[in-house]
Amino acid sequence: MGPEDPKVAARMKNIRHTVLVLSGKGGVGKSTVAVNLAVALAAAGKSVGILDIDFHGPSVPKMLGVDGMPLHVVDENTIHPFAIGDNFKIMSIGFLLRDQDDAVIWRGPMKYGVIKQFLGDVEWGELDFLIVDSPPGTGDEPLSIAQLIPEADGAVIVTTPQDVSLIDVRKSINFCHQLGVPVLGVVENMSGFTCPHCGEVTDIFKRGGGELMAGDMKVPFLGAVPIDPGIVSASDDGKPYVTTFPETETGKLFAKIAAPILGLPPRPASEATAPAAAASGCSGNCSSCASDGAAGAAPAAEEKESGADSDGLYKIAIPVAEGKLCMHFGHCETFAVVSVDREAKQVHGVEYLDPPPHEPGVLPAWLHDRGIHFVIAGGMGSRAQGLFRERGINLITGAPAGTPEEIAKAWMTGDLEIGDNVCDH
Ligand SMILES: [Zn+2]
Ligand SMILES: [Zn+2]
Repeated sequence: MGPEDPKVAARMKNIRHTVLVLSGKGGVGKSTVAVNLAVALAAAGKSVGILDIDFHGPSVPKMLGVDGMPLHVVDENTIHPFAIGDNFKIMSIGFLLRDQDDAVIWRGPMKYGVIKQFLGDVEWGELDFLIVDSPPGTGDEPLSIAQLIPEADGAVIVTTPQDVSLIDVRKSINFCHQLGVPVLGVVENMSGFTCPHCGEVTDIFKRGGGELMAGDMKVPFLGAVPIDPGIVSASDDGKPYVTTFPETETGKLFAKIAAPILGLPPRPASEATAPAAAASGCSGNCSSCASDGAAGAAPAAEEKESGADSDGLYKIAIPVAEGKLCMHFGHCETFAVVSVDREAKQVHGVEYLDPPPHEPGVLPAWLHDRGIHFVIAGGMGSRAQGLFRERGINLITGAPAGTPEEIAKAWMTGDLEIGDNVCDH
């Protein structure tokens, strides 16, 4: 786990904004929202790409009427996306799968390798926006994407109004908090059915749950989208979707949903692209840098899960005082290092380490040299956070007090409640 892949970084650098579209589970219309969001941005005159990397059901090509198209392979390292009109491009993992069942049998580490290669091979050219239709859930696939695109502006999370998906969407929001991915907002999908004949909206599910939940979790609510048969038929009749879109009810709704995304501030170019491993000055023989160094060259790095130790375990460091997570990072007595199996969601062991006397920069270096993959903390100042990120350590702040085992377990199951970073001063 660590800094982004250099080849991916090179491909992404001509893309002004990247937005991940996530959902807590499948079947909530995530891809429909991703496509409509992308089309709304294109209809606003932006150059837009949509990247469909949902292994479980790459449905974007079908929605846009380019299903079954052959790949435009330029050379063994470069694939061009499809262009629809002059400001809309599309690429889908579905183009790589001969059979929809292919992806299902791939193991996690293989998927990580495929995602990385895919992100590194697609040449988008200049884009204002890249919308990434990510795999659903909070597992290793969306995690890989978030890690490989660390400069993403943030995530749009799609839910339906039923209670069961609202529980999942909370997990998605926590997932984003944990990875430091800003939540741009929540979209409630299928919150009613718009009749194609009279335009009347009938509630199929109860609506409004997404908005309440977003308020509760203190993330923006971007809008509620009814099931609109127009979404499908607009792409079926062969007309360029972008030109007919703004007049449809869906088009008007998505113009509102896209407004905050159109207004995203330009992202700072400098820090996002600095290769963290090089900056850390590490000898390269620790477990975290060894895998980063090998990522570009040796296929061995792709055979194990993203950045896990050779035994498949991850190490989480948690600052502790009196046996529980200590809310102020700089005042902790000791560090609990919890070894976890993230696939089985099991804690394998806890050891305690006494930190060296702290001065700025000492703890990140010290933890890095101990092969730590994640730090889960309560409060931490923004300067210290930057030092951890430079070391390629994933940082989760705002965690509650609890024993190290409880916290590690809750984090793996997506149940860790993240509050405000009490120390962000
Ligand atoms: Zn290192
Ligand atoms: Zn403080």
